[in-house]
Amino acid sequence: MHNFNYHHAADIADAALKLKVTVEPKLLAGGMTLLPTLKNRLAQPSDLIDLAKIDGLKGISVEGKEVVVKAMTTHAVVAASTDVRKAIPALADLADGIGDPAVRHRGTIGGSVANSDPAADYPAGVLGLDAVVETNERKINADDFFTGLFETALKPGEIITAVRFKIPDRAHYMKFRHPASGYAVVGVMVAQYGAKVRVAVTGAGPNAFRVRAMEDALEKSFAPASVANIKIPAGDLLGDIHCSAEYRAHLVNVYARRCVEALVK
Ligand SMILES: Cc1cc2nc3c(=O)[nH]c(=O)nc-3n(C[C@H](O)[C@H](O)[C@H](O)COP(=O)(O)OP(=O)(O)OC[C@H]3O[C@@H](n4cnc5c(N)ncnc54)[C@H](O)[C@@H]3O)c2cc1C
Repeated sequence: MHNFNYHHAADIADAALKLKVTVEPKLLAGGMTLLPTLKNRLAQPSDLIDLAKIDGLKGISVEGKEVVVKAMTTHAVVAASTDVRKAIPALADLADGIGDPAVRHRGTIGGSVANSDPAADYPAGVLGLDAVVETNERKINADDFFTGLFETALKPGEIITAVRFKIPDRAHYMKFRHPASGYAVVGVMVAQYGAKVRVAVTGAGPNAFRVRAMEDALEKSFAPASVANIKIPAGDLLGDIHCSAEYRAHLVNVYARRCVEALVK
């Protein structure tokens, strides 16, 4: 690990200021991704700005038709929240399926969303549940947030403060879980809002994406058969040591169908 300066930010304004006045800073949330990256010398920040002591960045609330999860809320807290379980059980299930207990008790929603790991679970939740990512500067719609492999619409110096999920009529999340890490080889969130349906996929491509053909088909008829024959082109998907792009395309179809099956039974 290279040397760096370590700072505890007192509040969001203090973190924003420290991001501005340091040379090559990085925010530190749960450290579940960032610390291994530093240990492997894959990043060399001059300064780490720890968000852990900012109480205003922790907590969950239900505000009208939305569930608001503040950025430093851990996966374990989301999974155990009775408010989340009641309003969006699929989101509680998603958080409960991340990694292992150690990862769930350290990792945060803000860190996960900012990282945009292609195999992370939350991006499917953010996109499928039509969320808004709030930062210290603006609000970013889910559809505009994930822009590429480990890339988001966040600008340098921008801090995620909360994620605001729209409560669906019904939703379900399922993943083909990597047996070692728990990451999604493919994960699918299907959510229904009145006549509208959102189908969001993680794990398969460089970043989370929606499958409009499945959404259109489910809006006409919300039944497993509607998606059963919709094939996802493998061309833009990831192929790696875990599985081929073609197999990931197949898994998108299987898991979308299983989500709908779970919702209609
Ligand atoms: C063994 C293992 C298994 C895992 N399995 C899974 C899994 O099954 N599913 C899954 O989804 N994830 C999994 N993860 C990742 C885990 O969910 C982490 O929580 C997540 O990757 C990063 O969150 P963090 O809070 O640890 O962020 P950190 O590692 O602290 O930060 C990650 C990045 O986000 C930036 N950042 C952090 N907070 C903010 C903020 N508020 N605003 C802007 N930028 C910010 C940091 O600067 C850094 O670049 C796993 C991790 C490990 C180590």
